[in-house]
Amino acid sequence: MHYNIALIPGDGIGPAVIAEAVKVLLRIGEKFGHGFKFSEVDAGGVAIDKHGGPLPQNTIDVCKESDSVLLGAVGGWKWDNLPGDKRPERALLGLRSELGLYANLRPAVLYDALMDACPLRKDIAENGIDIMVVRELTGGIYFGERGRKQTELGEAAWDTEMYAYEEVRRIAVTAFDIARQRSKRVTNVDKANVLESSQLWRGAVLEVAKDYPDIELDHMYVDNASMQLIRDPKHFDVLVTTNMFGDILSDEASQITGSIGMLPSASLCGSGLGMYEPIHGSAPDLAGKNLANPIAAVLSAAMMLKYSFKLDEEAKAIEDAVINVLQRGFRTGDIISPGMKQVGTKEMGRLIVEEII
Ligand code: NAD
Repeated sequence: MHYNIALIPGDGIGPAVIAEAVKVLLRIGEKFGHGFKFSEVDAGGVAIDKHGGPLPQNTIDVCKESDSVLLGAVGGWKWDNLPGDKRPERALLGLRSELGLYANLRPAVLYDALMDACPLRKDIAENGIDIMVVRELTGGIYFGERGRKQTELGEAAWDTEMYAYEEVRRIAVTAFDIARQRSKRVTNVDKANVLESSQLWRGAVLEVAKDYPDIELDHMYVDNASMQLIRDPKHFDVLVTTNMFGDILSDEASQITGSIGMLPSASLCGSGLGMYEPIHGSAPDLAGKNLANPIAAVLSAAMMLKYSFKLDEEAKAIEDAVINVLQRGFRTGDIISPGMKQVGTKEMGRLIVEEII
């Protein structure tokens, strides 16, 4: 089969980690007889510099014509003083809404080989942590009305959290469907004791749950959930939540797994098209130094094979290769521990490719 992939390397460490993910995909293509055609386009800071805005129309068009999108990261110090709507990160919100990517899957898996990189007590972490954060991606406070005005206390600014029933229903369906392929447990995270939008959210989740009597559902307020992720991470299997809560909780979950450099993500729209990207940012402190961990980007490519192309065996080949490299003791700087062998971005990518035989 042939697959067209829009490639958005972006800024900072984005191009370096995407280069390794592409090498891994090409190796998968060789081994399993698939053709991957990459169309590279700009978004983020690089697009501001080259085209005058963070998300050129050509980038949107190429993404829409492709079978899926693989993105590195956007943003960086150079563009930090631009006004909000001109910043590189606007490209992400634009792509998500242009492509209708309302469901963001962020698996947080603690591999046995990385137990030493996990900051939790051994008795809490051992026997593995495997959480699928299902984050709503095109609604809520990141897309709500915002503004500024003068008040008697000085200039004030506001953002608005708003959810429509249908927005909650479809993300809840995604979460329950995924739970059916896992351990059949969903934890809904909201702030229904305070927020009106969370009360509607919880009501919609409860409605959807009626169609899934085989799934065990519980609810947690977000403040408690942030605590329980550290105290008892094994409580969670599928965690479904809003755009902002999911953004924050998945970063917290990433640290449990050792490093933000380990976590991939998939953003889906309900049909085949998806956008796949590591959850980390452009890490300007590491850019150009061959220090970034490419595993999140490589595992994002594996998610693309699984969710957009239904190539489960090929996805598993990548995941197994990553596990084997970690078991052989190779680590990038962010997950290094005593006795392990430190390698750079390119070496880690090469080692993963070599494991796909
Ligand atoms: P960040 O994720 O870029 O970095 C946070 C910390 O994690 C840094 O110490 C960094 O060195 C480390 N880190 C990140 N990725 C790593 C990797 N692959 N390997 C090893 N270490 C890694 O977050 P930040 O510093 O808050 O943001 C930097 C820029 O990225 C900002 O401009 C921000 O807006 C942008 N950003 C972009 C995205 C995205 O493109 N999806 C997401 C988050 C932040």
